[in-house]
Amino acid sequence: MEYEPVIGLEVHLQLKTATKLFCGCSATFGATPNSQTCPVCLGLPGVLPVLNERAFQWGIKVALAFNCQIAPTMKFDRKQYFYPDLPKNYQISQYDQPLAHHGYLDIGASGQPKRIRILRIHMEEDAGKLLHEASQTESYVDFNRTGVPLLEIVSEPDLRSSDEAYDYLTELKAIIEYLEVSTCNMEEGSLRCDTNVSLRPAGATALGSKVEIKNLNSFRAVKLALEYEMKRQAMVLDRGERIPQETRLWDAKGLKTESMRSKEGAADYRYFPEPDLVPFRLSPQQMKIIQQQLPELPAQRAARFQAAYQLSAYDARVLRQHRVLADVFEGAISAGAAPKLAANWIMGDFMAYLNAKKLEPEQARIRPEWLAHLVQLIEDGTISGKMAKDVLVQMLEQQADPIALVKAGKLQQIVDPAALERLADAVMAANPDSVEAYLKGKTNALTFLMGQAMKQSQGKANPQQMTGLLQRKLDQAKVKPHV
Ligand SMILES: [Zn+2]
Repeated sequence: MEYEPVIGLEVHLQLKTATKLFCGCSATFGATPNSQTCPVCLGLPGVLPVLNERAFQWGIKVALAFNCQIAPTMKFDRKQYFYPDLPKNYQISQYDQPLAHHGYLDIGASGQPKRIRILRIHMEEDAGKLLHEASQTESYVDFNRTGVPLLEIVSEPDLRSSDEAYDYLTELKAIIEYLEVSTCNMEEGSLRCDTNVSLRPAGATALGSKVEIKNLNSFRAVKLALEYEMKRQAMVLDRGERIPQETRLWDAKGLKTESMRSKEGAADYRYFPEPDLVPFRLSPQQMKIIQQQLPELPAQRAARFQAAYQLSAYDARVLRQHRVLADVFEGAISAGAAPKLAANWIMGDFMAYLNAKKLEPEQARIRPEWLAHLVQLIEDGTISGKMAKDVLVQMLEQQADPIALVKAGKLQQIVDPAALERLADAVMAANPDSVEAYLKGKTNALTFLMGQAMKQSQGKANPQQMTGLLQRKLDQAKVKPHV
């Protein structure tokens, strides 16, 4: 039978506040275990949580960026369970009155656009971390992460393929990067994601029973896990069996999902209102201040790039995907670079460099004015486009201005006509066979001679001038054959 997948995503985003959600402990990643704890986040008796104002404001900022309706009244609830890394035995979360609800995110800007609805965004505190590696017989617990602020962004099950899920996550990450409220670092757990998927006969409207997949630590893992799970469920259904509602884990090494536990419903958690944090409202003034802090978002930026700099939709989309790239692009234009050239160098050689070195755009520090200088050096003929490729790499490796690099490395292009002429004569004299071949009509011999000229000049000959010169000399030789 043919099935249609129904996919929803839950993203846990760690806000990069200096302190935790309900106490003043540092929320910095990677500190010595249990060095960032206090009676509040350790859940000792008699302590009172106090909401981190910045985490709350950032939560609203995210909700607005995802076009959500902000709740008129918010409250926190206790979600009961026993987790050994959360000593209170409940997590402060939000149950029936979350921060925000009913938003959306548009995906597929490069192909078929599609609107994915956001069901809710709520705040909660994180749990700690169990450490099993240190010993065969004992487990340790690190409470540093306990109480770190998280935002949970829950989509409606509007996604219909693993590619759409991937697109959704990429777009979500781009928006969060623009808002600068999280590092989005998946290795450090700043961005975590669970997905749920069910199959139904193509054309049906009723939903099948849903399987949740946890332990997905990259966008690629989400895609692979969904593809595996869709195949597995189709096989079970084809045998006429039922899919049990359960939570499964993704095994990244074995590339398969494994059953973890049957799925808990809300009733299992025994939610009740957190008595230590009273319900509260966002005042219209607070709302106005947060709205004014919203930056230009990726979709708006792409539209502006197209209109202001005559970029193609594709170029605008690639550049706006990372805030850093978009900033470098606009910075280079302010420093005098031509938009199309700046875009080409970022999307071509700069991104190739990042891929080769496995770097994120923010890790390779590129100053916009350096890029502008590089483009100007090409435009005024000081260096050739080919030389510029080397200069770009040197600029990134040495963190130096291309103008200084060109001066220091004597990389100036040879544009002096007399010098170029001597070079052309020398190359033709050294390669009589190629000259002869050209004269007999093999025009690609020119390419060979050109390559020799560039090689002899160590890439410094101005390519346009050199080609023109060789062409002219060869054509003259054609008119007056060798004697
Ligand atoms: Zn604390």
